[in-house]
Amino acid sequence: MTTSVLHKPSIRQAGLDDGEACVSAHKATLQERYQQLYIAVEQSPAATSITDVQGRIEFVNQRFIDVTGYAREELLGRTPAMIQSGETPHEVYRDLWQTLKAGRVWKGELLNRRKNGELYWEAEIITPIRNDRGEVVNFVAIKEDITERKRQENELKLLATAFDTGQATLITDAEMRIERANRAFTEITGYQSAEVVGKTPKIFKSGRHGPDFYARLWDEVLTTGHWQGEIWNRNKFGDIYPLWQSITAVRDDKGEIRNFVAVFHNIAERKRMEKELERQATLDHLTGAYNRRAFDTAMRQAIYQAERDDESFSLLLFDIDHFKAVNDHHGHDTGDAILKQLADLVSRSLRSTDLLARWGGEEFTILLPDTRLRGAATFAERLRGQVAETRFHGLAITISMGITEYRLGDDMDGMLVRADAALYRAKEAGRNTVMLTEGVES
Ligand code: GH3
Ligand code: MG
Ligand code: MG
Repeated sequence: MTTSVLHKPSIRQAGLDDGEACVSAHKATLQERYQQLYIAVEQSPAATSITDVQGRIEFVNQRFIDVTGYAREELLGRTPAMIQSGETPHEVYRDLWQTLKAGRVWKGELLNRRKNGELYWEAEIITPIRNDRGEVVNFVAIKEDITERKRQENELKLLATAFDTGQATLITDAEMRIERANRAFTEITGYQSAEVVGKTPKIFKSGRHGPDFYARLWDEVLTTGHWQGEIWNRNKFGDIYPLWQSITAVRDDKGEIRNFVAVFHNIAERKRMEKELERQATLDHLTGAYNRRAFDTAMRQAIYQAERDDESFSLLLFDIDHFKAVNDHHGHDTGDAILKQLADLVSRSLRSTDLLARWGGEEFTILLPDTRLRGAATFAERLRGQVAETRFHGLAITISMGITEYRLGDDMDGMLVRADAALYRAKEAGRNTVMLTEGVES
């Protein structure tokens, strides 16, 4: 028992002194009241210690013993330095002693160490106790173990850091009012968090999706708890951009929706690259003209459209004359450069709806939509003349062409066979020549 401490003058300050005259008369009562006070402190759930002015421990309650793991005998007469972890910054202790020496109450948090070596956080209030003459004679420390609170605080800090440094994230309440937005959100949308808090994500609508789109989206979020997909939004500056977005409904213990969390990233760049790759896949690498696959697709489309709209179009097939000799005399690289220059020249003479494709080797096809045979012949003749007049890497080259027009019921192969036959006749006729399907020289 450490009742001795209760007879210190400091305790009398607590209003227990009934006055000199009554001391003997009320001795039993007074002692009872001391006892009562002692029990209250001893059983208090707050770890409590009383030290003298040098900091030597005179009293500790049961909770203090439980928290620190030391026996009462190990603590009495020692200073609380024995439970210091060495990990609380020195400034904290400096402030503590300065405050106490000035006779003021100190409040703070200390990282201490139990007897078993375990660290624990305490929130502590240390009160200087004065005697009748106003001299500080004791310090009473009341401590609360806040290790769990600190752990939660650290966890929250960690989550806050993850939130702020992660993908663009928006958190709304159940009514879709924005509660929180992070840094990446600002980077993508241009909106500062304070500008959107309290508003609903309607402000991001681009107008690109109809009500059906949003109805399906929210139906999925509400039934499955989650939606993800592509969505076009508008940023603060009015630009519309595509996002890959996931929306999750967060429910409480009762199953009620508390929040919606939207996480997204801008996919404009990815889409641009995908488009570019798609475009590259349709092109011939050497000449930049469309490749045979793209030509096939365009031909099928043209035939379908011609059948549907009862319209016509023309197909032109051309081949460089004596190109083998060009390669033989000037090298394959020069041959390649000429092929490229020729493709460029032809492209420049086309309408935007026409399509030039490299059929293979030094043979090309041109698709001329909405063009009858005569119109195609005029175009071909002009092109033939243009090529003949142009110097390709200093060399004169000529082309021969075969032209055919779509006829009802035609398929791609049939048209190609006819164009090829016309081209053959153009070669037969001496080259640098345009031939129409009927075998008429243009
Ligand atoms: P013509 O068409 O007038 O009958 O004679 P040609 O010498 O052009 O004969 P043909 O069309 O059959 O020959 C194709 C030649 O084109 C073969 C090859 O030397 C050349 N050639 C084909 N593809 C390429 C290519 O990608 N690069 C280069 N440099 N030459 C090619
Ligand atoms: Mg050829
Ligand atoms: Mg040739």
